[in-house]
Amino acid sequence: MSETTRTRLAIDGAKPTMEQPVPKPVRWDDRERKQLAEMIDQPSLFYWNGPQTKLLLERFRRNYPLEFAIPCSSGTAAIHAALLAAGIGPGDEVITSPITDMGTVTGILYQQAVPVFVDLEAHRYNLDPRAVERKITPRTKAILAVHLAGNPCAMEELMKLAEAHDLVLIEDCAQAWGATYRGRPVGVIGHIGCFSLNDFKHIGCGDGGIVATSDPEIGERLQLCCDKGYDRVRGITAPEFLAPNYRISEPQSAVAAVQMERMPDIAAKRRRLGDRLTARLQGVPGIQAHHVEEEDSCTYWFYMLRIEPAAFQVDRARFVEALIAEGVPAGAGYIPAPLYQYPLFQNEAFFGGRWPIKEMGLTDMDYKTVCCPESEAILKTAVKIVINQAMDEAYVESIASAILKVAQVYGVQ
Ligand SMILES: *Cc1c(COP(=O)(O)O)cnc(C)c1O
Repeated sequence: MSETTRTRLAIDGAKPTMEQPVPKPVRWDDRERKQLAEMIDQPSLFYWNGPQTKLLLERFRRNYPLEFAIPCSSGTAAIHAALLAAGIGPGDEVITSPITDMGTVTGILYQQAVPVFVDLEAHRYNLDPRAVERKITPRTKAILAVHLAGNPCAMEELMKLAEAHDLVLIEDCAQAWGATYRGRPVGVIGHIGCFSLNDFKHIGCGDGGIVATSDPEIGERLQLCCDKGYDRVRGITAPEFLAPNYRISEPQSAVAAVQMERMPDIAAKRRRLGDRLTARLQGVPGIQAHHVEEEDSCTYWFYMLRIEPAAFQVDRARFVEALIAEGVPAGAGYIPAPLYQYPLFQNEAFFGGRWPIKEMGLTDMDYKTVCCPESEAILKTAVKIVINQAMDEAYVESIASAILKVAQVYGVQ
């Protein structure tokens, strides 16, 4: 090939594929401002019976038709409250994903229960139901399924396992606003759905969360679990069990109530853009797209493809550098390591450097021996691409062109 026809990359001095900076969404505007202005005239900013919180929950339930929806201070709080309300306690095992936010497991540990990490599906990056089944023991009490990046888990298979073994199935929907599993929103399929409104999620109010269920027994307890054990419905403030203060407040609810109205459009836009990228990456040698089941919809909190190391002359670090040079908002991997490899787990440094349930003989878990090979491979081969609602189809097309160009130049022929 002559010099003139060979494709050159931006990292080698050619013109970048993408000329435009990464589009940045405007997250809030006059609608939030107006809602906050109404709120400031209220005599109280307390959540219980507050008009902003009521509005937030009413709008939440329009999207997620569940009997009980309790607002709280974070996604981490929502998950902890769900576990507490479901009666998860010392020595109970909770099966979950090793590739997730710490907030998924914090509540498990605070309940003195045991996170049991099982391996993930290679291209959906969610719990592999067969791996889950193998890890079920008489101590297993719950499955905490994370819809990573807004991609629905294999809910039917997980629900079957939950029913067969009498387990609570909790959905971590922190990254999955607007995602649907076979036409139904994720969060309404398992026993309890947990949502985050932190600043980085599809919609946010600084910090906040919602935990919701249609199970009457769990539902009755959820409010108490977020509010020091105080029963606001009956006005009883002599707690029967220990619960933290995970209350939301009216300023957060005011913002979140408006954000909830924006949610369906944000989710739909991200779904369209992410699916468009997948369509363009089909059949590219060495590139495996972010897999979404045909009947489901992923709302791409991020897009994550994998590269086959043997298909390229360069390592992932160089591949990603080349993408960035082309102007692609890309990064290598997602979290630094699967959760069980964090010092916290390796050193069992949970409670003042100790792990009471292990000292009591309620668990023999040893995170030093845990290994989820597919999860480890995912983190070593993943390339994360930013998708957001301010982007348009043309922008995503140029992301795809840049990926194709880098893959072609670095490909092993
Ligand atoms: C963000 C997140 C959480 C925790 O939510 P916070 O509101 O930050 O506490 C839990 N799980 C997943 C998968 C998340 O992405």
